[in-house]
Amino acid sequence: MKYIELVDLYEAIGATTKRLEITRYLVDVLKKTPGEVIGKVVYLTQGKLYPDFAGVEMGMAEKMALRALSAATGLPLEKVERELRSKGDIGTAAENLLKAKKQATLSEKELLVRDVYDVLDKIARITGAGSVEAKVRALSGLLADAKPVEAKYIMRTVTGKMRLGIADMTILEALARAFAGKEARKVIERAYNLTSDLGDVARTLCTDGIEGIKKYHVKTGRPARMMLAQRLESAQEILEKLGKAICEWKYDGERIQIHKQGNKISMFSRRLENITGQYPDVADLARKNIKADRAIVEGECVAVDTDTGAMLPFQVLMHRRRKYGIEKAAKEFPAHMYLFDALLIENDDLTQMSLLERREILKKSIKETNGFKLAQSLISDDVREIEAFFESAIESGCEGLILKSGASGYQAGARSWLWIKLKRSYQSKMIEPIDVVIVGALMGRGRRSGSYGALLVSVYDSERDVFPTITKAGSGFTDEDLKNLPELLSPYELKHRHARVESKLEANVWFTPAVVIEVIGDELTLSPIHMCAYNRIRKDAGIAVRFPRFTHRWRKDKAPEDATNVEEIVDMYRAQLKRIAE
Ligand code: AMP
Repeated sequence: MKYIELVDLYEAIGATTKRLEITRYLVDVLKKTPGEVIGKVVYLTQGKLYPDFAGVEMGMAEKMALRALSAATGLPLEKVERELRSKGDIGTAAENLLKAKKQATLSEKELLVRDVYDVLDKIARITGAGSVEAKVRALSGLLADAKPVEAKYIMRTVTGKMRLGIADMTILEALARAFAGKEARKVIERAYNLTSDLGDVARTLCTDGIEGIKKYHVKTGRPARMMLAQRLESAQEILEKLGKAICEWKYDGERIQIHKQGNKISMFSRRLENITGQYPDVADLARKNIKADRAIVEGECVAVDTDTGAMLPFQVLMHRRRKYGIEKAAKEFPAHMYLFDALLIENDDLTQMSLLERREILKKSIKETNGFKLAQSLISDDVREIEAFFESAIESGCEGLILKSGASGYQAGARSWLWIKLKRSYQSKMIEPIDVVIVGALMGRGRRSGSYGALLVSVYDSERDVFPTITKAGSGFTDEDLKNLPELLSPYELKHRHARVESKLEANVWFTPAVVIEVIGDELTLSPIHMCAYNRIRKDAGIAVRFPRFTHRWRKDKAPEDATNVEEIVDMYRAQLKRIAE
C-alpha cells in the first residue's frame, strides 16, 4: 500500500468539520488495506507505531528533525528554523520547503506505508552512542524520497505531533463497517477492551474475520481497558438500581492494573501507559504478595504518611511522574495498594464471572500485608449502614464510596450502572469540580493581550463520541500559566473547529481535544450558547458552568474521553434543582 493513500486520508480528515465524514473516509481506506499492513495503518493514523502500553514513544526532538530537513533540502539550518517559526507547525514548514526544492530537482520515489513505518520504527529504537546522527540520517533519507505533502505527515509523526484527534471508538466503528457489518461492533469492541491493541484487532479482523475476534481473552502484558463507574447522589438511589451492593471505599489515588507473569511485574495506568517504572515499591509488593504465578489484578495506589499511616491526596503521587530519581521519590512519598478486582488468575479469564466470585478468587490469590491489601468493603442494602460506612471512608481521607453490583462481570472499558460512585452530595451551588477538555481559545485584551483571555472547554458525550462546549474558562490562571498556555497548546492548534467538537461560539484558535483540566464553577445553568446536553433539559438550551475557575489541577492522567461525561452533568444539574426546591 502506498503511503500517499494514507496521506490523502489525513488531508481529507483534516479538512472536514463533519464527524461522520471522518468515519466514512476511514472505512474506504481500511477496506482496501491489505492484512499485513492494516495494523501499521491503524497505529500511524493515531500518530503511533505501537499500542500505548508498549511504551515506544515517537517524540524526536524538533531540533533534530529540523536538522534532517535541512540535510534533505540542502538548505541551511537557520532557514529551516525560520520557516518553522513563521508557520508554527513543523509539518507545514517541511511541506513548503520541500515543494520549493522539488520543483528544482524532482527526486521523488513511490513510498510504501511499510517503508515509512520501518524508518520511523528504526528512529524510535536507535539508542546509545552516535544515535542522534543515525536518527537524523534515517529521517533525511526518508524526506528526500517523500512528496512534500508526505513530508508534512512524516515530520508530524516523528516529532509526536500527528494529532488528527481520531478516537479509538471512531476506528472501531470504521473497522466494524469495513469488515463485519455494524452489528459486529459490540464483539469487536469487547476484543479491543480486553487487549487495548487496535492494530492487533484490525489485523485479526482483516485476516481471520469475526470468528478470530471472538477468541480474544485477557492476557498478561496487554492491559485491559478499565471498568469505570457512573455517579449518583444518594445511597438510596444507588440501592434502587443495584439492590444489595458491594460497597467499597473510593480511594483518592491512582488506579493501577498489575500484571504478573512469574517474577515479571508490569503495571498500567488508567490511560494504559506502562507505569511500572514509577512504582518499583508497589511492583515489589506485588511480586511478593500475589501468590498466583500468572495474574491480572486491579486496585488503587495511594500515597501514605508513614509516620501516621494516614492516606494522602492524589496529587502527592504526581511526584512519581518522573524519569529519574524514582527510588528517592518512592522513599519520600511511599504508597500502599488497595486491591478490588481480579481479571485473570493462572489460566482462567475471570472477566465473565460475577464480582462476588472474582473477589473470592482475589482474596485467595494474594497475601495481605500492611501495604498490599484488599479495599475496605461492606456488603449491604441498608441505607443507614452505607451512610455510616461512607462517613468512615471520608474520615480516612477517601473521596466516598463505590457501590458495585455483585452479580456483574468485568465490563472492560465501560462506564456502566454496575459500578456507581457515591461522593459528597451536590449542593445547590456547584461544589464538585469537573474535568474539561480545552477545545478552543479566545485572544485576551489589555493585560492579557498576546495571550489567551479565556479557554473554550468541553465535556465528553460518550454516546455520540463528541465534545460539546460547557463554558469559557478565564479565571484561576496565574500570570505564569497565561504566559505558558499558547506554547503548551500550540501542538494541538487547528485552523478550524475539530470535527468532534460541538460549539456555537467561534474561537480565535481551535485545538484538537487533548488537554484536560479541572474547573469548578458557582453553579450549572441553562444556556443557549453551550452545547452540553443540548435540548435535553430545555429546547434550544444546553447546560453551562457559571463563573468557572481553573483549580490548578492539570489532569495529565486523563485522556480527553476521561473528561466529565454529559450524563454526569445532567445528573448534577438535576440534583442541583432538587436542592434548590428543598
Ligand atoms: P472517577 O475518576 O471519579 O471516575 O472515579 C473512578 C476511579 O475511582 C477509578 O478509576 C479508580 O481510580 C478510583 N477508585 C478508588 N477506589 C476504588 C474502588 N474501590 N473501586 C473502583 N475504583 C476505585
